[in-house]
Formats: sequence, C-alpha cells, structure tokens
Amino acid sequence: MKLIDSFRDKEKVDILLKQIDKLNIKDKEYRFMEVCGTHTMSISRFGLRTLLPENILLISGPGCPVCVTSQGEIDAIFDLVKNNDVIIATYGDLLKVPGSNGENLYILRSMGFDIRVVFSPLDVIEIAKNTDKEVVFLSIGFETTTPPSAGLVKQLVKENIKNVSLFVMNKTMPKVLDFIANQENVMVDGFLCPGHVSAITGERLYEPLVRSGFACVISGFEPVDVLMSVKLLMEQVNKGEFWVENNYGRVVKRNGNELAMKLMYEVFEDSDAYWRGIGVIEGSGLMLRANYKDFDAMEKFNIEVDYSKSLPGCRCGDVLLGRIKPTDCSLFGNRCTPEDPYGPCMVSSEGSCAAYYKYGG
Ligand code: SF4
Ligand code: SF4
Repeated sequence: MKLIDSFRDKEKVDILLKQIDKLNIKDKEYRFMEVCGTHTMSISRFGLRTLLPENILLISGPGCPVCVTSQGEIDAIFDLVKNNDVIIATYGDLLKVPGSNGENLYILRSMGFDIRVVFSPLDVIEIAKNTDKEVVFLSIGFETTTPPSAGLVKQLVKENIKNVSLFVMNKTMPKVLDFIANQENVMVDGFLCPGHVSAITGERLYEPLVRSGFACVISGFEPVDVLMSVKLLMEQVNKGEFWVENNYGRVVKRNGNELAMKLMYEVFEDSDAYWRGIGVIEGSGLMLRANYKDFDAMEKFNIEVDYSKSLPGCRCGDVLLGRIKPTDCSLFGNRCTPEDPYGPCMVSSEGSCAAYYKYGG
C-alpha cells in the first residue's frame, strides 16, 4: 500500500463523515474558503462537496496566481512579445491565458514568436547562455514559487549574466486574506489554509485571521486531509474559539521555511499589487529591490500596464472572492470552457472554473 492510499482510504473517509455529522448544527450554515487552487481541484475531483451535508459550504478563493493576474499585465506581455525581439520564458499555465483580443501565448508561438516553457526559473540560465537575445522570465506566483525567482536573480548576478530580466507579477498571501476577511459582507467562517504556501510562510501568516474571529486550519490535499480539516474548522466554529491548527504537519513546520523567506526578501520587497477583479491591495505584491533593478523587465522594456482593463462578462473576480460559484457566471460552459477559455479561472488546471467544469461543483 502506498502512503498516499491511506489519505484516500474509504473507511477513514466514512469515519470522518460520521464525525462531521455529529458536529453539524443543522440549522447553521458553515462557510469555509479553500484559498488554494490545488484544494479546489482536489475537492472537486474527489466529489467532497457532494459527500458533505448541504449546510457545509466549501467556497473557492483567490489561490491561483494565474487567475489573479490582471488583464492589463496579460496584455502587456503580448505587447512586449510583439514589439521586441525577445525570448519569453514562462510556466506552462500562462500559455492559454487569453488577452483582451482573444489571442494567447500559444497563438503567438505559432506565429513564430519565441516563447518557451520552463519548469524552474533556473532553466532560464541555460536559455540565456545560448543566445544573444534578451530573455524575459514571466515571474508569477505566491510565496511558494517566488523564492526560486529570487534564486534566479542571485544566480544571474553570480554568473554576471546580463541578458535576462523578470516581468514580476508575484504576490503574497497576508494582505489578500486580510482583505477577504474585512469585506463588507464577509462570506466565510473560516479558511482551509493553503498547504504549499504555509510550508514556506509557516503558521504565523494566519494569526491575524484568528484574532479577527476566523477559524484557520492548514490542510493537505488528499480527501482524508480535507475532511479532517473541515471537521477541525467546525470544532473551532462551534466553540466560538479560533486558533491556527496545523493539519499538514508532515509538510508544514510552525516557522515554515525561513531560508526561502529570507531569500525572497533579499531580492524582492513589498509593493502594492493589482488583483484581477479585486483591484489594488496595498502591500500584497512584490517588486525587485533597488540593487536588482537591472533585472526588471518593466524598466528595461519600458512596459506600461493598463490596470483598468477587464474582460467584459467574466466574473472571475467574484469567483475569486467567493461571492459566486463558477456555475453562476453566465459564460460558464458555453462561451468559456477549458478547451476555449475566456477567463483565467477556466485556464489553469487548478482554476476554480476549470475544476467545476471538469468534475462538477
Ligand atoms: S495556476 Fe494555479 S496553482 Fe497554479 S495555480 Fe492556478 S490555480 Fe493554483
Ligand atoms: S466561467 Fe469563465 S468567464 Fe466566467 S468567471 Fe469563470 S473563467 Fe471567468
């Protein structure tokens, strides 16, 4: 039996469902937001929503860096590609994200523009060493994937490589969680906290949330992890007492990965960031520190971003804040499908709309 099987074990699932049923106050609605796209996908894939009582709602949040990247930045990438003789290095997730005029990086690549998929920022070094062209790395992600971007910058300095720059679109979690918690109509009682991000940030990230009266449980991604986390969230809500519970101790340590956080903040500093469908959240983004500005593609290529752009009809912003379910968007399943996505939540293999489309709610 593989280790993973024990986290999908039907007997354990049944026991947890019974425990959840016991805790369930039937005339109450429990609303828990899973912040991370990987949770969303796992919840949909294993049909966990359908196993839970109807009054326990799992709501998808802004856990996808691709989904929350602004339309203006996506369009600016296309302008950059078309107006400069550059090589673009990107994670595969971004290739299908549509620009305002319907094109995407796949289409640009088929038109002959040099767009390459990398699996690690360090792959960019190899590309740069074998070309005289400028290479632009599309740096995207939360605390999980930003330290490797910082590692790339450090390596560029070390090897004195000058033909690489980063289009920085990285964001961090604390301020957006705070934003969600302080919305006018707060839609959640607690958070199923993202396992991967927590592995880097540690448990402290969620302390402000519990002080504000939200249940917080850091969770893994398998059915037993998620159901156990739901049970732990319910216990906090029923007691009216809140704390950060680490239900992913096999990966997340209390202080996270301090080396990775240190590396990230050596190279980047906090900045304001624009979140798709949400707007500007102060201090929720990252930018290169002054001594690394030579690696800033925005400055090198004079990139202007029009943050006011949005896709007419796309309700990704409401989906990302848990205000609506993906299926409430009128474009869901007709104009917008994983094969022909209109909005970014349908693009990523872990986007909320894609999860609902593939597996149901
Ligand atoms: S692209 Fe995403 S991880 Fe990558 S993420 Fe999106 S939903 Fe999650
Ligand atoms: S269904 Fe498509 S258009 Fe509607 S919110 Fe989701 S991604 Fe955006």
